[in-house]
Amino acid sequence: MTQNHPSLDAYWMPFTANRQFKAAPRMLVGAEGMHYTTDDGRKILDGAAGLWCVNAGHGRKRIAEAVERQLHTLDYAPSFQMGHPAAFDFAERLAAIAPGGPEARLDRIFYTGSGSESVDTALKIALAYQRAIGQGARTRIIGRERGYHGVGFGGISVGGIVNNRRAFPQLPGTDHLRHTHDLARNAFSRDLPEHGAELADDLERLVALHGAETIAAVIVEPMAGSTGVLLPPKGYLERLRAISKKHGILLIFDEVITGFGRLGKPFATDYFGVVPDLVTTAKGITNGSVPMGAVFCSRAIHDAMMQGDPAAIELFHGYTYSGHPIACAAGIATLDIYKEEGLLTRAAELTEYWKDALHSLKGLSHVIDIRTLGLVAGVELDPRAGAPGARTYEVFLDCFKNGAYVRYTGDIIALSPPLIATKSHIDELVTILGTAIRRAE
Ligand code: PMP
Repeated sequence: MTQNHPSLDAYWMPFTANRQFKAAPRMLVGAEGMHYTTDDGRKILDGAAGLWCVNAGHGRKRIAEAVERQLHTLDYAPSFQMGHPAAFDFAERLAAIAPGGPEARLDRIFYTGSGSESVDTALKIALAYQRAIGQGARTRIIGRERGYHGVGFGGISVGGIVNNRRAFPQLPGTDHLRHTHDLARNAFSRDLPEHGAELADDLERLVALHGAETIAAVIVEPMAGSTGVLLPPKGYLERLRAISKKHGILLIFDEVITGFGRLGKPFATDYFGVVPDLVTTAKGITNGSVPMGAVFCSRAIHDAMMQGDPAAIELFHGYTYSGHPIACAAGIATLDIYKEEGLLTRAAELTEYWKDALHSLKGLSHVIDIRTLGLVAGVELDPRAGAPGARTYEVFLDCFKNGAYVRYTGDIIALSPPLIATKSHIDELVTILGTAIRRAE
C-alpha cells in the first residue's frame, strides 16, 4: 500500500499497536485545509482535527511564515532568567481572551510544551499555592474515573484509564470522583445530559473520607474527550465548583481539548459559565503546528505566589522549552487566524447542523449512543462479544479506506473536525461514517 517510505523498524510509535501498524502502515505525507494526503495520493477528510488540535485547518501559511521569521530572528532563548518579546507578546494576547470573562479572567500564564506538561504544572501550582497560604497539609489531589490528563505521573495518577495506570506507580494521595457516563439514563442526549448533576456530590464524600484540610485540588475535563466524548450532566460543573469553593479546594479544568473554540466559545469555562482556578491547555494553542501548552492561572493564585523576597524564585518549576520562541510565534499567528476568521465561536454557528447530521445515524444497528456538543461528537457502538473495540477499529479502517480520518477509543468513534469545516464536509464525514458502521455488522 505505501510507497517510498523508509524502514519502519526504528520508530517506536506512541499509543499504537506497532506490529499491527507496521504490517499495514497508514502514511500521511501532506495536509491542506480539511484534508490529509496519503503516500498513495489519496485525499482524506480530517474528521478529528489531527488529535483534536488543528482547529484552523492544515497548512496555514501565516503560521509557517511566522515560524520561519522567528527561526531567522531568534531561534531559541533560555527560558529561565532570560526573556524574549514573543513570549511576553503571546502571553498578553492569551490574557486578553483568557477563560473566565472580564470579571474573573485567569490571565496569568505559565508556558509548557504539551498537555501532559500543562497538567503536571497545574497540579504543582495548586500544591505550591496551598503551601504558600499556610495550607501545606493539603497534598491530596482528586481526579475522576474515565478522565484523561496525559501521561505524566501526575496525569496518570489523577486520570482514570486503567491501561494507562496499571504498569506504573501512582502519586500518593490521589482519589477519584465517579465518572458521569450513564447510558441507561442519558443515551442519545443531543446536548448536555439531563441526569447526573448529583454525581458532583462525590466530592463531599471524599471530603468526608479524607478531610478537606488534606485536599489541594480537584481536576476534571469539563467535557471528557479522549475517553469517548463524555458530556457533563446539566448542573454538574456548577455543583463541583460550589463544593470545591466551600472546602477551599482548587478546581482545575483540563481544557487541552475544549480550549480554543471546540465548543463554540473560546474555552469550555466560558461555554459553561463556570470559572475554575486553573485551566490547562495545549493542542489548539498553536493549531497543532508546534508543540506547546499553557496553564491559565487566577490572579489570586498568581499574586499569592508573588509575595516575599523578590529575589527568590517563586515556583521551582519550568521547562527548557517553556515559551519557546518558535511556539510563541506560531501561537501569535494562530490567534490572528482564529480572530480574523471568527473560529473561536464558529462551532456555535455549525452546532445545530452538526447535531442533526450526527443524530441521523440513530437507528443504525449497533449504535447505542450519540453524543454531541459544539463541534464534537461521540458515537458509541455496542462491542462484539468478547472483543471490545474491535468494531470501532473496523469502522476506523473502513472510514480511512473511504476517505475520512476518525478517532476510535474503546467502543466509541470520536469526531472533532477542524473549525473551518463547511456543511458539505460535515455531510461527507457523516456519510462515510454511516456507511462504515453499516458494514461493520
Ligand atoms: N489532557 C487532556 C484533556 C487531553 O485530551 C490530552 C491529550 N489528548 C492531554 C491532557 C495530554 O496532552 P499531550 O498529549 O499533549 O501531552
